[in-house]
Amino acid sequence: MSLSQILETYRTWFPDDADGIVLIQQAYLYAEKIHKGQERASGEAYITHLAHTALQLAQWRLDAQTIAAGLLHDSIEDKQIATGEIEKRFGKDVLFLIEGVTKLSKIKYRGQERSLESLRKMILAISKDLRVIFIKLADRLHNMKTLDHLPPPKQKRIALETDEVYAPLASRLGMQHVSGDLEDLAFPYLYPDKYEWIKEHVQETYDARNRYLEYVKPLVEKQLKKIGVIPLRIDYRAKRISSLYKKLLRYEMNLEHIHDLVAMRIIVKTIDDCYLVLGAIHQLWRPLPGRIKDYIALPKPNGYRSLHTTVFCLENRPTEFQIRTQEMHDEAEHGAAAHWFYESHRGTKQHKKGIGTATQQHESSIVKQLKEWQEEFPGTKEFVEALKVDVFSDRIFVLTPQGEVIDLPREATPIDFAYHIHSEVGNSCIGAKVNNKIVPLDYQLQSGDYVEILTQKGKKPSSSWLDTVRTNYARKKIRLSLKKKMLIPKKTEFRITCESRVGMIKDISSIFSRNKISITSLQTIENEKYPLIKALVDVDNRTRAEQILLKLKKIEGVKEISYKLI
Ligand code: MN
Repeated sequence: MSLSQILETYRTWFPDDADGIVLIQQAYLYAEKIHKGQERASGEAYITHLAHTALQLAQWRLDAQTIAAGLLHDSIEDKQIATGEIEKRFGKDVLFLIEGVTKLSKIKYRGQERSLESLRKMILAISKDLRVIFIKLADRLHNMKTLDHLPPPKQKRIALETDEVYAPLASRLGMQHVSGDLEDLAFPYLYPDKYEWIKEHVQETYDARNRYLEYVKPLVEKQLKKIGVIPLRIDYRAKRISSLYKKLLRYEMNLEHIHDLVAMRIIVKTIDDCYLVLGAIHQLWRPLPGRIKDYIALPKPNGYRSLHTTVFCLENRPTEFQIRTQEMHDEAEHGAAAHWFYESHRGTKQHKKGIGTATQQHESSIVKQLKEWQEEFPGTKEFVEALKVDVFSDRIFVLTPQGEVIDLPREATPIDFAYHIHSEVGNSCIGAKVNNKIVPLDYQLQSGDYVEILTQKGKKPSSSWLDTVRTNYARKKIRLSLKKKMLIPKKTEFRITCESRVGMIKDISSIFSRNKISITSLQTIENEKYPLIKALVDVDNRTRAEQILLKLKKIEGVKEISYKLI
């Protein structure tokens, strides 16, 4: 792994970008210098890790800034290089990306979080730019490949995080290949027994399938020649261990039922060719009913496009074929990253080399979402802008001291956070620490903040909080607590001593109803001389109670009235 390999890959996609080449070269030399003497757990020089990360990014066809940031992604965290220094040498964009990766490295998943989805959203929100995620994924891929060198508890934690957070995130970004790689790399650490079982039982079948497809391939080539389609490539694709395992669980671990253990993949130039090839395969071999999938006309939700069919192939053995264009293939492999490339090269030479026609309507879902938010972006610059993730711009994601993710509206304060944890925590809140520093209670929380609430028993909320909180929940709870504190009465009890006569109760209640006061209860207590009527009504202040008292006094036969607010 060396600088020249990274540059060579970069030049394949961006042959005329001399500035980009210089930037990558300088980043490499600088990274080599600052990490000098530092070793990975494997004993390799640290630069190997950085170079692998950068090469991966170059293979995803990302821009020079992203590759440079990939080379420098551990410079702030591990080497405490000043941000000003990085900005001076490599520019704002590279610094921004490195800072994003540094923030992400603070989030550690330990399998206890209540909502994984919030955690994934938080990662996107913190990243602010999809290129930060690409760097993180490239970094994680290499870390997973070298996981063997870490102590077992650490292996488990990182494998779990990879499987539950980063692989689904990659999948969400349409990077199926990366997602599958991450799952496969995590699998032996998470399920060592199952991994052994699969290795033992599948290998033989797998080798046999490969040999079988070697016989099939020339027959396919011949048939394609007949219909005049020249394929770019025909190869076999072994089903991944992780997805094979998931499928085996559905088929009671019976390998006989897995027709796509090894599938044949045909890459062609145009969408028209895809359908021609499908027809040609069906002319050669009869398809299995229900197994023809047109993901070109109906892409999967993550944007995946391809034609799939399973046919009774040579010796009647069910065999899966996948047919797609190069662009579809790249998007399936690299998702949003490939899309970035195609979008930024639209109409240029590189793009034509990639072929593919009807691309506009098939973006991975997140890119589509971005597009809806940001309308059209015809040029490269605008598309890079669009990669800045503000899909979640109305929400922020912060962490409890235990690392749990709390999802709040934008501009939420520590008080909102406190009430979200528990109304008692909110009520007794006297201060807050964000990232270990005391902040004012009206501080606006940012995604990724660690928030700790300081409480004092018996403390009550302040009415000024009502102006700064963002959540209705907090506002409601504060009001409730304030009411309790000031003992604001809500009802009045009138005690009326009066003659016992027909219509007395009616006269009293009509006073209340004429004044639009609702009656909670009306009770007559027989006394020695005169009965006592207790009326509990919705009057919440003295002025009003006095007014009503005067009116009640005028009723014929009323002897004595008193009231109290309760
Ligand atoms: Mn790293």
